Amino acid sequence: MIDMEVKDKPTIVQAPEGEKGEGFFLTSMSAAVGLARKNSLWPLPFATSCCGIEFMATMGSHYDFARFGAERVSFSARQADLLMVMGTIAKKMAPVLKQVYTQMAEPRWVMAVGACASSGGIFDTYSVLQGIDKVIPVDVYVPGCPPRPEQIIDGLMKIQELVANESIRRRYSPEYKELLASYGIE
Ligand code: SF4
Repeated sequence: MIDMEVKDKPTIVQAPEGEKGEGFFLTSMSAAVGLARKNSLWPLPFATSCCGIEFMATMGSHYDFARFGAERVSFSARQADLLMVMGTIAKKMAPVLKQVYTQMAEPRWVMAVGACASSGGIFDTYSVLQGIDKVIPVDVYVPGCPPRPEQIIDGLMKIQELVANESIRRRYSPEYKELLASYGIE
């Protein structure tokens, strides 16, 4: 007979900072939106080589990416808000990566998974892009060749921190527009 005892009870997401009293809870719009966004990220895996295999392991039942509300992997840029770049990016591939990024709606976040996506890795050659931040802005870099699934999960949790604490006005700020402009993105 299968033992149905639940040893690890699910945890409840912490409420954002705010004022509470009997029958009410007050917080800011940014905190409430950040809480919802943080726990419902839709990743777009842009996997070109070995690091992509680590991502497959991360999605499997053992590491269970779904725990973070991020199990809905999207292969359409328009229905994704977290671009996960995993693998070596050849310079010929760079415009494609940039196009995928620009097709994503705001707000969007980017994770460079592994040494190749972060810096070109061991491929210090004329044909390999020496880090995806040469063509698009990156929010979190995950080191390793390849990174273990635990590191990818750690990267996701760092992204969640950024998402939870981001002001809903940030994407309209001159600083953000300036950042995109520095990449030639309107
Ligand atoms: S960082 Fe290492 S494991 Fe990842 S794509 Fe590059 S060579 Fe492969």
